[in-house]
Amino acid sequence: MQLNDPGLLRAQAYIDGQWLAADDGGSFDVTNPADGSRVGSVPDMGAAETRRAIAAADAALPAWRARTAKERAAILRRWYELILANQEDLAVLMSTEQGKPLAEARGEVVYGASFIEWFAEEGKRIYGDVIPSHGADKRIVVVKQAIGVVAAITPWNFPIAMITRKAGPALAAGCTMVIKPAEDTPLCALALAVLAERAGLPAGVLNIVTTNRAPEVGGELTANPVVRKLSFTGSTAVGKLLMRQCAGTVKKVALELGGNAPFIVFDDADLDAAVAGAMASKYRNAGQTCVCANRLLVQDGIYDAFAAKLAEAVARLKVGPGLSGEVQQGPLINADAVAKVEELLADAVDKGAQVLCGGKRHALGGNFYEPTIVTGVTAQMRVAREEIFGPVAPLFRFHSEEEAVRMANDTEFGLAAYFYARDIARVWRVAEALEYGIVGINEGIISTEVAPFGGVKESGIGREGSRYGIDDFVEIKYLCMGGI
Ligand code: ADP
Repeated sequence: MQLNDPGLLRAQAYIDGQWLAADDGGSFDVTNPADGSRVGSVPDMGAAETRRAIAAADAALPAWRARTAKERAAILRRWYELILANQEDLAVLMSTEQGKPLAEARGEVVYGASFIEWFAEEGKRIYGDVIPSHGADKRIVVVKQAIGVVAAITPWNFPIAMITRKAGPALAAGCTMVIKPAEDTPLCALALAVLAERAGLPAGVLNIVTTNRAPEVGGELTANPVVRKLSFTGSTAVGKLLMRQCAGTVKKVALELGGNAPFIVFDDADLDAAVAGAMASKYRNAGQTCVCANRLLVQDGIYDAFAAKLAEAVARLKVGPGLSGEVQQGPLINADAVAKVEELLADAVDKGAQVLCGGKRHALGGNFYEPTIVTGVTAQMRVAREEIFGPVAPLFRFHSEEEAVRMANDTEFGLAAYFYARDIARVWRVAEALEYGIVGINEGIISTEVAPFGGVKESGIGREGSRYGIDDFVEIKYLCMGGI
């Protein structure tokens, strides 16, 4: 891997402004999912180092919180500009450790940086209230204050954006942080810390603890009473575990968990637009996003035409290592991910689904899997209930609007949903009936820093991005002034 600035590739973690090895010198390798080669290695830290990172964040808190929002924004703005100035290096690093096509990685760097810019500005607008009081001699004022030390645990599918989406609002609000990046993609997190340091972020404000022992570090982050909030993005199972662990010290939790996104195509949809939306929503990042279409529900009258057009588009997808040319689908993150996709597909085929295209490991070998479409999928198959997190599009058939809505809501998840329709009354009815935090209407890509991202039901708690995103990092304090 060739970086213009080799200083972005780190082999040490970042605690209290110091680049450090693990106490016992232990480390673990980061590999390239496209070919299994070693990209680098990072410290395998445990509870003791995590405690020190929390203590550093705690020590840095009073001075950081005391700065004006404008002073914090100036540093965040520099961080934003440095991320953009290093877009190519960050994209190459991301594609190398995570596998996504370089074009997608470049896009994620811009998307990730946007949260820093956005929240640097929003931090200046954390307004309070003056409330007409309940007594003539009293005045009521509401102020919003930084919540304190925040812990963040982040996933590998968006190695930069899932960090900046938390760090942007947390730091802008005056919080300090300890971040544990995913073990598959710690290098992007460390590169972000290099740039934060260069931007002038004071020591201790942002700490990155790398580990291959997530339960141990997560245990400390959730039990330590100094941490006032946990912000987690990852699987529902781990989110539930962390929420339970946070109960002991009554931490606030923000959870962005799994999804089971329905992508509904009604008879009156613009077919080409629906196919383009499905391609973007399903195959981006090789299907490894929590808002990827997981179930394509297609109305009877348009089902065959949609399936045929989707198959044509899928046949054009170029699969290969993320860094090699005009690739549109890279490898899956690791061997377990490929095994899971294989298992889900075998279950669907066993129960009667038909493979329209793809359906097996890719000839490139390793972690590559063919872009796949299966038709005739039913509620009895595992793909109907489980998050696929791979490039497999299962097509379900429905007949009426009521049936589509019922099928779409028949899941414990509630993150993103999509539908394509042109009848305006139907658009309103369906948008209101879907039990999801995000609804894409005639649109397959819904992520942007300006809109609130988050789920209902078992998909999570809280919203990231938009003006609502900063609420998660402040506490409301009510001042009652008497004797006036
Ligand atoms: P995924 O299926 O996307 O890998 P995970 O929920 O396993 O989802 O991982 C998301 C993040 O949660 C990663 O940073 C991972 O290391 C972390 N993680 C996994 N298990 C635990 C745990 N028991 N405690 C704390 N963090 C965990």
